[in-house]
Amino acid sequence: MAVMEFELIERYFTGCGSERDDVVLGVGDDAAILSLPAMHELVVSTDTLVAGIHFLPDVDPCSLGHKALAVNLSDLAAMGARPAWVTLALTLPQVDEAWLAAFSQGFSALAHQHGVQLIGGDTSSGPLSITVQAMGFVEKGRAWRRDAAKPGDLIYVTGTLGDAGLALQAIQQQLAFPQHERDEIISRLEKPTPRIVEARALNGLVNAAIDLSDGLLSDLGHILKQSDVGAVIEQGQLPLSAAFCACQQNEMAAQLSDECWQMLPLSAGDDYELCFTVEPQKRGEVESLLLAQGIDACCIGVIDAESGLRCVQENGELFHTDKVGYEHFKGSA
Ligand code: ADP
Ligand code: MG
Repeated sequence: MAVMEFELIERYFTGCGSERDDVVLGVGDDAAILSLPAMHELVVSTDTLVAGIHFLPDVDPCSLGHKALAVNLSDLAAMGARPAWVTLALTLPQVDEAWLAAFSQGFSALAHQHGVQLIGGDTSSGPLSITVQAMGFVEKGRAWRRDAAKPGDLIYVTGTLGDAGLALQAIQQQLAFPQHERDEIISRLEKPTPRIVEARALNGLVNAAIDLSDGLLSDLGHILKQSDVGAVIEQGQLPLSAAFCACQQNEMAAQLSDECWQMLPLSAGDDYELCFTVEPQKRGEVESLLLAQGIDACCIGVIDAESGLRCVQENGELFHTDKVGYEHFKGSA
């Protein structure tokens, strides 16, 4: 590795995030050394973001640093794990120090917020691509798995759905929404909040969980398949943000088809909310906890034994979810 690259790592990626006591050796050696607490299991996840595929190459580098970490922390949240350590493999087309400074600032700020330390990585040259590996831990046997949903479980989601998908439409099709709402949904796309706090609060109360990166229908579908169950969800219960509703009620709403508006909360990706299932006997405990801790999550349906995902519209009719997908967004402006 060239001297220049050592300097870059020293400048931008040493001391990034929190300084943790359980890091025996961090950035600078051939590998890091970490000590895992007793009676816990290690939870590991990795995600790559490629320019032009997962993000627009001219996106704000500070937001990109945030998002590269956020999507990985979101995976740990979906396992019910406490995040601790991350590695960062960066492939850069050129050395742009202003870009690196902003990227590492966005990354480090979010790492600090969740007590996470950057403990190593790799830096090479090539087309812009970012791979983060996130590691955390969970009490033995208490991780949330996709294969653990049971008939009768209630299905919850955190936050709101469809904002990031609407933002992508707004950017790609240059839709004219009111500025405040437009900024709000774009920040949901570019700076998603990993639901770590929510996941830790719900420790012990959840059967199965997943984070919503590809859209509710697709991601909940993974839980159903792996748990060998089905589900009924109520379209009218899907949580929508004030910004989403304001855009939908605005005179500019006709820029998208009715069907597109209906599909965004169901099938658009990138929201990074959690979808989790709860045994019906635990409903009271979960609802009081959500209320007491000010956690934004709501019940959208129920798991049942009959396979498949049934989505009930507000008029009581079934919505045919097998026909839906991203192709509905194409040419809808
Ligand atoms: P090696 O050649 O042994 O793989 P490197 O020269 O790639 O080591 O990296 C030197 C040190 O810098 C290692 O501790 C590695 O983990 C760390 N490192 C390299 N790139 C990054 C990065 N982008 N972020 C954090 N740490 C990094
Ligand atoms: Mg290396």
